[in-house]
Amino acid sequence: MRVFITSGRTITQGRELYRKDTPAYSRETSRCFIHPFDLLEIGAEEGDSLLLSTVAGEEVFSATPSEDLVPGTIFIPCGPHANAILHADTHGTGAPDYKWLEGTLARADMPPRSGWEVLGEQGGASCPQVPEPGGDESGSTTFRDVVCPLCGCLCDDLVVQVRGGIVTSVDNACALGSEKFLSRSRLCTPIARNGEAWTSIGFFEAIRYAAEVLADAERPLLFGWSGTSSEAQCIGIRIAEEIRGVIDNCSSICHGPSIMGIQEVGHPGCSLGVVKNRADVVIYWGSNPIESHPRHLSRYTTYVNGRYRDNGHQDRTLVVVDIRKTDTAKIADEFLQITPGGDYAVFSSARDRQRPCGCPPPNDRGHPPGEVDMARRSLQECSVRCALHRDRSDPVPRQVQERAQCNRVRR
Ligand code: SF4
Repeated sequence: MRVFITSGRTITQGRELYRKDTPAYSRETSRCFIHPFDLLEIGAEEGDSLLLSTVAGEEVFSATPSEDLVPGTIFIPCGPHANAILHADTHGTGAPDYKWLEGTLARADMPPRSGWEVLGEQGGASCPQVPEPGGDESGSTTFRDVVCPLCGCLCDDLVVQVRGGIVTSVDNACALGSEKFLSRSRLCTPIARNGEAWTSIGFFEAIRYAAEVLADAERPLLFGWSGTSSEAQCIGIRIAEEIRGVIDNCSSICHGPSIMGIQEVGHPGCSLGVVKNRADVVIYWGSNPIESHPRHLSRYTTYVNGRYRDNGHQDRTLVVVDIRKTDTAKIADEFLQITPGGDYAVFSSARDRQRPCGCPPPNDRGHPPGEVDMARRSLQECSVRCALHRDRSDPVPRQVQERAQCNRVRR
């Protein structure tokens, strides 16, 4: 059976991110959300093993029925199982086809592999056991205004308590951020590959080894740097000059074309502060912040009051456009479910509606006229309903509200 595969974060996957060796993490990343009609068609039931195959590889997943998807579409959580069937082409966008992958689906006899097995096959080896941090447990120190580095929200209002070198509590972080601060699997010393395993080594030894490798290289390439601080990049450039190497960054194969496009035609945007203070209509397009950026709605958009939005949630209309009915779509005032790959048609339609001359929008942009018309009608109806629809009598689901609020986790 041919299927369209899309992937993304789930709350459980995000919470278990720092315990990749646990069965809970593997259980979540090996799930495959599928419409019940598709399950019927291949004669499978919930929990059965399903083999997903793409041009990049094949992997066994566990079937999880979900009516949030349209038939023919599969959703898989991010993780080693999803990565095993993703190819590396980014089309100049900076990200592989997490959202756009064609493949085939069939029943399988074997159970899904664990995350460790998948990583091991790709050359991974177990890291040494991370020792429990120790130290003076007599006093507890409170750090305020701590920045959470996990997602793009970069929440900077966290309150972290540390006792004996261990983070004991985190205030204001969401479930994902709390798990990051409370996890105890952070490597504190360098490690060196030793056959099929890694062993801990000292910093001096690690730096000396790296220097020798660079000095012995005939034509070294220093590549990457996209997640590196500016200060470290400066040092990297000096090292590249010193060893007569080549230095390059990820934009060569990722963001380069996007940046060139932005330089040519511009990049409309605004700060999240502007969104918070002014936005009356918020559109999440193909994103599910409740699971990927859990505090985005409560800090910047839907649930927060702004300078010109006194009543926060009451003053704003939330619109979600997506191919599946995500948790964010479930709390939206308007949800426009589009067909996979239909984004361009909907964008075209939205832009055509803005034509000041009032000319009829063209239908000859390589998309079936029916799809463009449908998208245009949907957006028109959506726009009219957004303008009229201010009825907040439907309560926001409690579970979603909780996720959108700050969490306090203690250990
Ligand atoms: S939303 Fe959560 S994960 Fe993202 S920065 Fe804020 S606390 Fe961290």
